[in-house]
Amino acid sequence: MKTTLHRSLSHLSTLTCSSCGIAYDAFEQQTVSACCHMPLLAGYIPDNFKKESLQQREGTMWRYLEMLPVLHEQNIVSLGEGYTPILKLTNLAKKYELSSLQLKDEGQNPTGSFKARGLSMAISKAKEHGVEGCIIPTAGNAGVAMSAYCAKAGMRAVVVMPRHTPKAFRDECYWYGAEVVLVDGLINDCAAKVKELNRSGELLDVSTLKEPYRLEGKKTMGYEIAEQGNWQLPDVILYPAGGGTGLIGIWKAFKEMQQLGWLGKGIKLPRMVAVQAANCQPLVETFSGRQANCQNYVGKPTIANGLAVPRPLGEQLMLQTLQESGGIATSITESDMLVGLKELGENEGLFVAPEGAAVWMAARKLLDTGYIMQDEKILLLNTGSGQKYMENLPAL
Ligand SMILES: *Cc1c(COP(=O)(O)O)cnc(C)c1O
Ligand SMILES: [Zn+2]
Repeated sequence: MKTTLHRSLSHLSTLTCSSCGIAYDAFEQQTVSACCHMPLLAGYIPDNFKKESLQQREGTMWRYLEMLPVLHEQNIVSLGEGYTPILKLTNLAKKYELSSLQLKDEGQNPTGSFKARGLSMAISKAKEHGVEGCIIPTAGNAGVAMSAYCAKAGMRAVVVMPRHTPKAFRDECYWYGAEVVLVDGLINDCAAKVKELNRSGELLDVSTLKEPYRLEGKKTMGYEIAEQGNWQLPDVILYPAGGGTGLIGIWKAFKEMQQLGWLGKGIKLPRMVAVQAANCQPLVETFSGRQANCQNYVGKPTIANGLAVPRPLGEQLMLQTLQESGGIATSITESDMLVGLKELGENEGLFVAPEGAAVWMAARKLLDTGYIMQDEKILLLNTGSGQKYMENLPAL
């Protein structure tokens, strides 16, 4: 076994096809599964990793190293991502008579969004495999994050994004030394462009779920939610779902922590709510039975750029998460996102991404419908800072 050759902390053992379960070599570079062309999921041997050992570790997502896929620590490409604060929204809780309303602020990550987690992991693994350059279709934040981590790793970076993406995203990629290609359309059109540009295969395509490790970075949010909550979990977690890596990843983390014995037997896992933009809500359509799947879904742009993903490859995995957790999919209009943005700003001093504003408005909506109760522990994920989205907001 190759594993015995590594003197590493990582307990990585397999990669399995998320659709049929066939196993692939986790020590070779992989993309999607050859059998079903679906995402590969990393599996670990969960023995001998005690949560007590976390106490001495640094405050980044790398504190969970045993359950992460990087084999050699020198390959870690880090800008200090993860271990973001979970804030108590006491003013809004009071206003809406809620007993516990919290927000994990992913806007405090390097490059201003939780995409830092996934791309730090993917680029670290790319480095481990000797990759020299990466390419990505992006709605904005993922491209910025990839550019930064590629710069740090000394790799070439090619970023393909919709022409309508706010300038702040485009320009930041440039300052990290990336090549930026603009495309008319949404992220699926960018994905087609990536294929065309990378016919030779010389660059690693780090599209959402087309390589196994962005998911492993995003799952650290789940570990942190448990650890920062002193191993108690919220009743409901609201997450803005585009490609869905965060939703799938947090749920994967909860399952892994159950295997590790880190969650008490009596602890109920949270209901996972996927929040989308009404302008692009493929998951809501499939979840409600109005379409069989998202393969022909046509979406429109939204001010929440990260949610403009009309045909996510991880649709089945997202639906599985919703089903297993007792969650639902819901959507928020453009104008309601602005209401949420203002409300979080005025009441809590937070300037969130429109994706985060959508999540808060979804909580309000689901309190109204009775899906969420006022005495439940509610956790919102704000996935990014609002600062790069200024161009999307109404002129004052
Ligand atoms: C990318 C992005 C999302 C969606 O994340 P997925 O992992 O693709 O579901 C949500 N919010 C922000 C700010 C993003 O950049
Ligand atoms: Zn398969």
